[in-house]
Amino acid sequence: MSAPPVNRAILVLNAGSSSLKFEVFDVLPGGLQCFLRGQIDGIATHAHFKAKDGAGVPLHATAFSAESMSSQHAALVWLLQWLQPALVGKNLVAVGHRVVHGGTLFAEPIRVDAAVMQQLEAFVHLAPLHQPHNLEPIRCLLAERPDLPQVACFDTAFHRSQPPEAEMFALPWRFHEDGVQRYGFHGLSYEYIARTARAQIPALVAGRTVVAHLGNGVSMCALRDGQSVGTSMGFTALDGCPMGTRCGSLDAGVVLHLARAYGMSLDAIESMLYRESGLLGLSGVSSDMQELLASGEPGARRAVDYFVYRLAREVGSLAAALGGLDALVFTAGIGENSPEIRSAVCERLAWLGLRIAPQANAANASQISTADSPVSVWRIPTNEEQMIAEHTCEVLNLW
Ligand code: ADP
Repeated sequence: MSAPPVNRAILVLNAGSSSLKFEVFDVLPGGLQCFLRGQIDGIATHAHFKAKDGAGVPLHATAFSAESMSSQHAALVWLLQWLQPALVGKNLVAVGHRVVHGGTLFAEPIRVDAAVMQQLEAFVHLAPLHQPHNLEPIRCLLAERPDLPQVACFDTAFHRSQPPEAEMFALPWRFHEDGVQRYGFHGLSYEYIARTARAQIPALVAGRTVVAHLGNGVSMCALRDGQSVGTSMGFTALDGCPMGTRCGSLDAGVVLHLARAYGMSLDAIESMLYRESGLLGLSGVSSDMQELLASGEPGARRAVDYFVYRLAREVGSLAAALGGLDALVFTAGIGENSPEIRSAVCERLAWLGLRIAPQANAANASQISTADSPVSVWRIPTNEEQMIAEHTCEVLNLW
């Protein structure tokens, strides 16, 4: 009897400050299929692991002591061991990583070797809260599994098509030359939406589109012919729209005032802007949109109203950058699941020609605008892990 065929598999890793998310895909003749996903959260504090199969059925959950799961390295070693029995009959051919910063150097994903790793380490100072954690599993695997090809996929890369004026700050030019520029983030999500639309709704990609990625992190991207020409996040992932715990656009003078008048240290200001602001700071209730919408607290209403107001302003700004608007796309946790937020944003944008179809919106349909709406409105689920897996296949010629 001949041995059963061995499926090639790709592991996608998304390493954060205290979490390691993973997804495993089969590389099939018809494309990629996720068969396992999960995450280790609370690394170095109250670490716990959970995994689901490709259909979302829970498979496994475990809690760890802080000592036994004290670092990204420990989490990766544990995960690779846990994956072994799940990968029996499969050949793990590559690992794709989410890496927040590719600077101006990387406009595409890239296979990582020691030289590329050095270049990626040079961007740590541009994203000190994220880049070191993203790079840790790559470094571990380069050392322990040098035979296993690894591909870095960047949150910034998709925005390298922006025109020069979209990448500038009005600071003395030497800072721009030193890397103080608007890079933009969430690029893997926007690229996935552009690809999906190109395959399923070609007319959508052909025009002037704003995509609103509304998750815990929130940003928007202006697309012309499927390419980024502007985005709301800038030098860091703090800028633009208000988020779960991040402030969004803030007068730089406020930072100076916090330091001078309140004696706050840079670390204290950074922690507040990243972790205590946004929906959480304004509401005093929660960073979670679903909880805010269900809450009767006045602070919750205040936060939701501000969120909607700023989103509408940002769409207006990006529409100006595009010279008009043909389509608006909602994606990520809030964008995909909250008819209330979508309709509130669209109501504020009626002047641009948006007409939402209430039933389609309430049903979370794909097209949620009326047939005669001059600007079409869509709901398209994003999938950054799938995008990383696709890039990994393309870079390594695995198709
Ligand atoms: P992340 O950026 O961490 O990947 P998600 O894309 O999962 O986050 O988005 C999380 C946000 O989506 C949370 O604010 C959550 O409350 C919100 N969300 C999820 N489902 C709903 C829903 N049915 N209604 C409103 N908000 C929702």
